[in-house]
Amino acid sequence: MAEPVILLRDLTKEFPADPPVKALDAVNLRVERSDYLAIVGPSGSGKSTLLNMLGLLDQPTGGSYLLDGIETTTLKDGARTAVRGSRIGFVFQSFHLLPHRSVLENVMLAEVYGRAPRKGRRDRALRALDRVRLSHRVDFLPGRMSGGERQRAAIARALLGEPALLLCDEPTGNLDSKNTDAVLGLFDELRAQGMTIVVITHENEVSDRADRRVRIADGVLSEAP
Ligand code: ADP
Ligand code: MG
Repeated sequence: MAEPVILLRDLTKEFPADPPVKALDAVNLRVERSDYLAIVGPSGSGKSTLLNMLGLLDQPTGGSYLLDGIETTTLKDGARTAVRGSRIGFVFQSFHLLPHRSVLENVMLAEVYGRAPRKGRRDRALRALDRVRLSHRVDFLPGRMSGGERQRAAIARALLGEPALLLCDEPTGNLDSKNTDAVLGLFDELRAQGMTIVVITHENEVSDRADRRVRIADGVLSEAP
């Protein structure tokens, strides 16, 4: 059987406080390649904490996380950053585009601090923008585009490092239903190309399309119908 992209065993995250906050309590999860997993749950239940763990943005206090077969919890900072840069793309509700840079520059900037060679940076960014069908918007400033176009630009930026895993925190939270549809259609295309997608969402429209839904309540994860 093929190796899962994500394998969590009793992953736990406790924040120091009095008493300590167990934001994730022994979470077990297995996500296969090309899967589309939706994470639902009330505010404060641990969704963002889980996404931060999956994205190697923060360290768990217990348990194990195998990403593509690599045990990540014991990696040193530099190695963890390298694994993150080569395997994970992030998409956020508020796009996080720089307002005074063109779409092309915004996408190209994703590589500035990485290990990607300077040569070909522009071509790679143009290809990523083509994948999200924004070739006609490369010179636009984000403020001149619709929310849907801005999110597609942010997805192009996330795709630049050819990640295996796309982690999205409320990716359609600022979009109307037409633009939500466009983003979901794009997710379908990316999955057909082998991308694994994990989405935090409050919207049925987004979770209904998932292969699988899990719910978090007080840091405890369970399968959702
Ligand atoms: P959600 O994304 O589902 O709204 P979070 O993952 O942000 O929930 O938070 C889960 C719990 O962990 C909450 O009780 C929150 O207050 C706590 N928490 C999150 N981040 C921190 C932090 N950096 N320090 C202390 N507590 C935190
Ligand atoms: Mg959150």
